[in-house]
Amino acid sequence: MSNVLLNIPVDIIQNSTFIENYQQLNAAPDLSLSFLEKVWASYYLYINNDIFATGLLFFSLHEFMYFGRSLPWYIIDCIPYFRKYKIQASKIPSNKEQWECLKSVLISHFLVEAFPIWFFHPIANVIGISYQAPFPSWQKIFFHISVFFVLEDLWHYAFHRGLHYGVFYKYIHKQHHRYAAPFGLAAEYAHPLEVMLLGLGTVGIPIAWVYFARDLHLFTICVWITLRLFQAVDAHSGYEFPWSLHHFLPFWAGADHHDLHHHYFVGNYASSFRWWDFVLDSEAGPDAKLEREERMRIKNEKKKI
Ligand SMILES: [Zn+2]
Ligand SMILES: [Zn+2]
Repeated sequence: MSNVLLNIPVDIIQNSTFIENYQQLNAAPDLSLSFLEKVWASYYLYINNDIFATGLLFFSLHEFMYFGRSLPWYIIDCIPYFRKYKIQASKIPSNKEQWECLKSVLISHFLVEAFPIWFFHPIANVIGISYQAPFPSWQKIFFHISVFFVLEDLWHYAFHRGLHYGVFYKYIHKQHHRYAAPFGLAAEYAHPLEVMLLGLGTVGIPIAWVYFARDLHLFTICVWITLRLFQAVDAHSGYEFPWSLHHFLPFWAGADHHDLHHHYFVGNYASSFRWWDFVLDSEAGPDAKLEREERMRIKNEKKKI
């Protein structure tokens, strides 16, 4: 039996349909749940098996958000008007390239990612991730997601930079660099070991957080995974617009940052933010190279004096 409703005095009939559950929650006089919270609770009550419900939710969320976010980029690639915003304008991915990529990503989703997803609910239960309605406040959700973005970015920087060394690059990370001019769908085109290592930054950090902070909701993780997928797909889109997020948040990385990584194969290792590449002097591209050389020249001149 599901215990999705926390301290709520309502007699919900299990094994009824999703719509019936929703209507009963809607009609319950002592209940003040938002639309999303009622949908969430109705879903868990309808499935009536929390492990299966969370697994199905995560798998569907991942597929829907990843491909749903990639589709507009595919359409944009087909419209010549947008060429002026393409970072590597002469390198429009062919349908064949996108199709090959789609097949590989789907295989990876079903063979690599579909399996561990079913362990998430039992792990979440043991470490105390709550999934009951109502949800936490939006302020708390925002705070948790901000922390995850900052920590994941550091994780990604460290392990992505590590993946560029010798054998790690040759046998693992080279696959992701097949496309020197990336496109949205290519975000998760990677070796299974890379998918697991970098995916651990997305899933493992919330688990580590709740282990220490003892406060996290499964809905927050759903929002976090959605935003992280959007970030990864957009960073691979290959398009830079005047309205791209980094023009408003200068430390946000985006496609402008990650496209250079694929173009030059070195530098710009971080996922969401620009600060680690700036601080650790690993910015990619000819402009960053010139700036680095200029700094070296000034340093050497100072030494001579
Ligand atoms: Zn790389
Ligand atoms: Zn990439």
